[in-house]
Amino acid sequence: MIVTATAAGGEGRVSLPVPVVWSEDCLRHEPAWEVWLGVRDPGTEVPARALALRDALSAAGAPVVPAREHDDTVLRAVHDPALVDHLAQVWAEWSAAGLPGEYGRDRVVPYVFPTPGLLGALPLRTPPAVHGRAGLFCYDTMTLVGPGSWAAIRGAVDTALTAADLVSGGERLAYALCRPPGHHVTRSAYGGSCYLNNAAVAAQALRDAGAGRVAVLDIDAHHGNGTQAIFYERADVWYGSLHVDPGAGWFPHYAGYADERGSGPGAGANRNLPLAPGTGDDGWLAALDVLCDEIRERDADALVVSLGVDAAVGDPESPLRVTEDGYREAGRRIGSLGPAVFIQEGGYDLASLGPLVVATIDGAAGWGTTTTRG
Ligand SMILES: [Zn+2]
Repeated sequence: MIVTATAAGGEGRVSLPVPVVWSEDCLRHEPAWEVWLGVRDPGTEVPARALALRDALSAAGAPVVPAREHDDTVLRAVHDPALVDHLAQVWAEWSAAGLPGEYGRDRVVPYVFPTPGLLGALPLRTPPAVHGRAGLFCYDTMTLVGPGSWAAIRGAVDTALTAADLVSGGERLAYALCRPPGHHVTRSAYGGSCYLNNAAVAAQALRDAGAGRVAVLDIDAHHGNGTQAIFYERADVWYGSLHVDPGAGWFPHYAGYADERGSGPGAGANRNLPLAPGTGDDGWLAALDVLCDEIRERDADALVVSLGVDAAVGDPESPLRVTEDGYREAGRRIGSLGPAVFIQEGGYDLASLGPLVVATIDGAAGWGTTTTRG
């Protein structure tokens, strides 16, 4: 299964014994822009992110494992099949409508959204025009679809499923280098630079492989509103997140508050710890401990970690101030919880995101043998 393994890097580093699942297709998604507050800005979720991560992990000695193709069974259980079909087809339909060629619209960007306030008592229709239909499945203007996007989106799902297979098959840890990320995607709507929810798919795959109780621990700087929504009414998949307070003006604005605790059978199985902008290692790790304690209390059989490194002090997309040491310590604490599938989410500072992920995974791999902090 393992096809390439580089030698341990310089600096005397011990080879990192955690498989890194990789799909070359992840490079094909080039959103190019994001329309943010009405202005077309260069996007930060760029293909170079994936190369920086792969190269850093490979240099640390981690074996790189190719993602294996999976059918749509788990994907279509987690997501509305209409969302999956839309993403698979929308670029071709956008092109066929002449939008790139005749109108200069080189990416799919919705402009009208069927909110409850628009519809009132009317039924939710599926508009025939692709430029009208685009807002049926997407909730923002900054998550663009281009010609290579679907290959990368689907490749990220295979990447997550392959990592879940490795852990179900006995590996203690596996890391899925998913790009684009996924934790903002609900059952039937995408946004937040995410298209399909890789972490939710991995969690469902672990359940299907026999894990009775799964915990999803989300340490991305932003609340994983999509993952929360998918499991909000389920008792078998717990979701916990620490993130910058959406009430302080941060994405996703409408979700991520502390009083969102799950509902129905899932009541009590959702835990949000919003953090003030400027929170650094001490506050961040204290919040992480609250979530780790809850995971232990629930006696989870397997863990999915939504690993965003955008909480780092140098990241342009969040005001949290976590250091590389903080991430290493987080990895160590998470590694003590049991078998875990790490899913890459955010992290946008190209110079530091590789070392941050290496520190986290290295911390998790070595939790039983290193004591770097008290
Ligand atoms: Zn994020």
